[in-house]
Formats: sequence, C-alpha cells, structure tokens
Amino acid sequence: MEPPLHSGLVGRSPATLENRVPINNLIQVAKALLITLCFISAAPSQAQSETYDVVFKQARVIDPETSLDGIRDVGVNGNKIAAISEAPLKGKLEINAKGKVLGPGFIDLHSHAINVPSFWMQAHDGVTTSLELEAGGFPIKKAYAFAESLHLPLNYGYAASWAGARLFVADGVTTLDGTLQTAQANFSKPNWSKLLTADKSTEVVNLIEQEMLDGGIGIGVIIGYAPETNREEYVALGNLAAKYDVPIYTHMRGKNTSEPNGAVEGFLETIGVAASTGARMHMCHINSTSLKKINAVIPLIAQAQGKQIRITTEAYPWGAGSTVIGAPFLRPNQLSQIDIKSSDIMYAKTGEFPATNERLAEIQAADPGGTAVIHYLDESKPADMKYIDDAVLFRDTMIASDAMPFTINGQEFREEMWPIPDQAYSHPRSSATFTTVLAHYVRDKKTMTLSDVFRRGSLLPANLISTASNDAKYKGRIQPGMDADIIVFDLKNIKPLATYINPRLASKGMEYVMVNGQFVIQDGELLKNSRPGKPLKSGFRKGM
Ligand SMILES: [Zn+2]
Repeated sequence: MEPPLHSGLVGRSPATLENRVPINNLIQVAKALLITLCFISAAPSQAQSETYDVVFKQARVIDPETSLDGIRDVGVNGNKIAAISEAPLKGKLEINAKGKVLGPGFIDLHSHAINVPSFWMQAHDGVTTSLELEAGGFPIKKAYAFAESLHLPLNYGYAASWAGARLFVADGVTTLDGTLQTAQANFSKPNWSKLLTADKSTEVVNLIEQEMLDGGIGIGVIIGYAPETNREEYVALGNLAAKYDVPIYTHMRGKNTSEPNGAVEGFLETIGVAASTGARMHMCHINSTSLKKINAVIPLIAQAQGKQIRITTEAYPWGAGSTVIGAPFLRPNQLSQIDIKSSDIMYAKTGEFPATNERLAEIQAADPGGTAVIHYLDESKPADMKYIDDAVLFRDTMIASDAMPFTINGQEFREEMWPIPDQAYSHPRSSATFTTVLAHYVRDKKTMTLSDVFRRGSLLPANLISTASNDAKYKGRIQPGMDADIIVFDLKNIKPLATYINPRLASKGMEYVMVNGQFVIQDGELLKNSRPGKPLKSGFRKGM
C-alpha cells in the first residue's frame, strides 16, 4: 500500500486539479479560496446590498473557533453561511432572533441510532450531524446505502467497524447489512470476540483498511465487548490509523473499580497504543468506562496529552449506561467487578430489575440483544454527580450522546412516527444529552460557557472527524463559507424532558434547527418532510 491521500476535495475543487496537484497544495488553494470568499462575503457594502435566502436577524452569534460572541445578522444562501454582519442584512425570509443564541449545530460523534425518528429526537436536542463511530457500520458501503435510503433529516456517517470485520472473518457472518441491529444479533457467535490466529488477525486489519478506503471515517473498536481479543491486533489497528492519520474510536477494554481488568488498565492500553503508534486515539464515553475511577484516569489522560500523545475524550451527562443485556461485562460473575448488583440493571423490554443473578442469567439467555439500562451512578446523589461532572468538564472532553435506537420488543423502531409511540424505549441520552448540558452546566450551574458548549459539542468533533473527511472542515463553525448547520434557541427556555421512565419526551426550546441550509425545526415545529441530511465520508485513495 502506498501512503494514502485525502481526496475529500472532490466536488469542491476542479477535478483536474484534484488529480494532479499534491494534497498540501490543494489544501492551501482551498484555504486561499475560502479566505477570499470570506472577505467578499463579509465586505459590508456587498453583504448589505445582497438579498439572502434566509437571514437570522440580531442573534447572539457564537463561533468558538474565532471567539465570536456578539450580536450579528447571519445570511444563508443555499446550503452555506454566506455572510455575518453587524449591519442589517436583507433576506427573502427574515427571522427575528433577537435575544436568542445562534451557534453551530451539535455534532454527535457517538450515535447508534441512525434512523428518522431518532434523528427527529436528536434535532430537538440541537444535533445537526449524528455519527456512528464507536461501533461503526459493516460492510461500510451497505451502511451508507442503507442510511441514504432512509432520507435522513440530519447529516450522518460511519467508521469502519472492527466488530463487523471480526464477525465476517472469524465467524463467517455474511449477512451483515450495515446496521448495528444485525451486528448485535450476531454478537453471540463464538469466535469474533476471542483470540484469533495471526493470519486471521491480519485479515481483520486488512479488511478494516479496505472499509476505510470505501468511506469509513476512522475505525470503531468496541474492544470492551470483546476483551479476550488479540492485543497485537489493537496495536496493528493503531499503526493503520497512524498511517492514514485518522482516529480510532475505542470503547475501552477494562471497566470500573476492580483490578485486574479495571478502568485504569483499559485507559492505559489505549494511551499506550497512541504513544507507541502515533495514532489519534479517541476514548468513548469516559464517564461510563471509568465511573468512580474517573479521578484515577483523568491524570493519566492529562499527562499523556501533555506529552503530545494524541488522546481525545468524550462524555455524556448521565449516571446510567445502556447496552445489550447480553454484554459480557453484565454476566452475573462479572457484576462485582463493575460494582453493581443484578437489581441495578433494568431490562427495558419489561422494566424488570432482576432480583437475582439467576433471573438475570435467564433474561440474558432468552434475549441477549435486549436493551439494558445499568444504573452505575445515582444522579440524585451529589457524590455520584461529581464523578459525572469530572468527566464532562474535563479539559477538552467532547459531548457525545451514545444514543441508542428506540426499540419495541427488541426491534429497532424506524417508523416515521412522531411523537415516538409509548411502547418504544431507549436511554434518555438518546433524546436529551446536549440540551441537558445546556440547561444544567451552562445555564443552571454556570460551569460551562456558551462558547465552550459549542467548542465541545461542535468545533472539536468537527476537527476530529475532519482528519478523515474533508467535508467536516466546513462544519462546527459559524463563518462565511461554512455549511449552514445552525441552531437557534433561547437559553432560558431549554428544557430537557427525557427520563429513564419516559425517554420519548423530546427536549423543548430548539426554535430553529437548520441542516445544510434547510430547516428541520422551524419556529419550534418539526418539519417531517424536510430531509436535508448528507453523508460524511472519508476521501482516501489507494495507490495515489
Ligand atoms: Zn460504548
């Protein structure tokens, strides 16, 4: 394999240039064009004489990259932000945004819920791009084709799926269709989560490389679901990620308080792969993989980052986790290691908290793919909330929901119904992660600023995925030339409503949610026929 090249400028620069000019030059040309474009768009005389498709008037505009926090008019033409001006702009549609915040829509790095009703739920949470990067999609071409066939309201994308590649190589599963549901249905297969021979392990890594060439934006590794797998394979994946300079999104191997196989060990392993291979290693949901050990792992991450080791982190502001009830770390003989009892686990299908290990084992045998909500930390207890706060507020931790699809009787709910019907269940993080951060940390506790919530929720995620997808360079920012993924809200009216009992309640307060220049929520109303979502894909080329 020759060194890879990003070719995500396809469609944004002349094809003749793209094929002949070295990539660094191309990026510089693109930047120069962009700067010129910004200058033209921002020039007051032209900006004021032009009539834009949509103008948001007198909004408090926040752009974390340029530190803009001021009253501006924002003009949108087509799918792009065209002008940002202190002087009034004219628009075919003018929206009075006085007293409201306007910022870049949230980019959720961690969603397993790639379907229309879940995306409608996330739109109410302020999300404009929702990405399946931890588990990924396999085969990647089918994942993207499936998502495209849904006509989604938000932008979407997938990482290459390590679990999918292993199911294919180790268990010969050929029926995967790109969805997590189909992959999960095969998680009980005997070999994918075990040690493989060196040859088979190499086959997995080679397949992952092909999946990246076919569009995957990075590599999703749920090693925590397959802890008995080859360490050397994880290192090989690190070398692969370093070669393409893309992130690995890891659900880490160790978990919680007890050693061996504790959280510290899992975090150290991922830091070690970053240090030895130079790969960008993204640690998924550091809240739920460290829990009460958060203060043991944070110094490890901070020290590694201080040595320029490329570690990034994400968290969601909930004390309970959610996964399939058949996950290996929920086996009765593993529960003491993660400091919970069977009665801390809710079987979502029936709402039962199994009173004994025997009852838990029965449910796991009958429905290994059923949704479980695991109450690790109690959000009503200040001491437990402190663990969550420490994860969410740590340095550059990004906000990511780990959204799960709503399910009815174990089946993913994909029908285009709104509101979502009463029988459907998911973790409330699927509905209200970003609005919870806005309401709790920004407005009520004042432990995070507005600029910081857009930095952690929009800009940093855009920067991370832009290593694999040039499309992402135009996201997470309110600047001329950037994609018009915009949210507008009044902070005092933001109300996250989803709970563990009723996760179907959409958050209130998002007045406008615009994706690629089209409204998905307008004047507080969901527009069910608006489907402006586009894929984010990698732009690698083999042999260039
Ligand atoms: Zn996970």
